Amino acid sequence: MNSQVESIFDSNISSSKSYLTASIDGKTIYFAVQKENAKYLIHEVYDAFVVASIPLALQTGRNIVVNGSISESLFYNLKNEVIPILLMTNKDYRNFEISAQELYSESINSENAIGLAFSCGIDSFCSLEINKDSPTNFQITHFLNFYAGATHNKVEHENKLGNVKNLASLLGIDIIEVDSNITDLITMSHSQIHSVRNMAPALAIQKLLGKFYYSSAYHYKDCGVFQGGTSAHLDPIILAKMGTETMKVYSIGSRFSRVEKTEVVSCNKYSYDFLDVCVDTDYQVQRKESDPMNCGVCWKCNRTLLTLEILGKEKLYERVFNLDKYYFQRDNYIKSIINDESSLSQEVLELAKENKFSPIEDLEYDKLTLINWKIKATISKYRKKVFQRLNRNKLIAVASTRRRK
Ligand SMILES: [Zn+2]
Repeated sequence: MNSQVESIFDSNISSSKSYLTASIDGKTIYFAVQKENAKYLIHEVYDAFVVASIPLALQTGRNIVVNGSISESLFYNLKNEVIPILLMTNKDYRNFEISAQELYSESINSENAIGLAFSCGIDSFCSLEINKDSPTNFQITHFLNFYAGATHNKVEHENKLGNVKNLASLLGIDIIEVDSNITDLITMSHSQIHSVRNMAPALAIQKLLGKFYYSSAYHYKDCGVFQGGTSAHLDPIILAKMGTETMKVYSIGSRFSRVEKTEVVSCNKYSYDFLDVCVDTDYQVQRKESDPMNCGVCWKCNRTLLTLEILGKEKLYERVFNLDKYYFQRDNYIKSIINDESSLSQEVLELAKENKFSPIEDLEYDKLTLINWKIKATISKYRKKVFQRLNRNKLIAVASTRRRK
């Protein structure tokens, strides 16, 4: 069974936006930009729609059949690298083929702009900070903001977008918003496939972008091809292979851990007024203009504030967090992550240990719990290494069997 990608066209459906639209599996899928940015939409090719179809194809095993043209380079890399790698990370993913009527191999006329996907979070602020001294042809010219699954509803998205727009205006950086309904195509969770999914809106505006920067979530030591990994664990491996003859993709920031990124961000004075890490949808929807940007108590606010507090910098952020609310329940948060095996929680606890962060030592049950945590952390690290080695050996064995055939 196939998923047909066809009937590409553009139309001004509303008075304020311009749409790039295609029919996929009978559904109308769109990428929309403000009318003044309509010239950046690429109408000639289906690259964005093919990438948007990947999660659906992984779930259903349906081939992607394109009734039109796609980038030769993207086609080659999806077929030979990206899809096979994604298949190695989840035993429930199904294999599929991609075919197209035509492959294009020339670059398309573009503004050659350099866009950074920007949300005002730790990853994107870190990317902004580390790129500030880049050579001219690598300097960020545009912030890109996508409505493609990261937030739960339009109100939350618009509230967060307002914050990004205010910073962009202060920095004199242009901002391009891309709205899309690609989430209609899949039931897979956003966290499972978000970095692949976020390539699609960027590919839709190739007439603007010569380079697209995407902030990676994980440190290189935690990235790799292994069962149970998300697409974010693959960022430095596959994202650069999802560019085209016109637009190169860069996965950036993996040389830093989340703790190190937070420290880098704390050197950027704009983050004191614009940092936005909050994932509490209700808070974001109901937030008044006088309320701080972040709730201060959701897991992401807690993790960020605990890291900043251990670094002695949380007070710099009193305008964007309600620090009193955070202090009130901080110890409960620490207790909740002591048994959390995720690398991001462990990094924070390691930092606390290194810095002899007193609230952790003051917790009444701390000694036994911390010993318990250290044992668990060591076992978890060891288990991950063994698992990755086994996986690697399995892949080598499969490769050599194929060679023998
Ligand atoms: Zn929050």
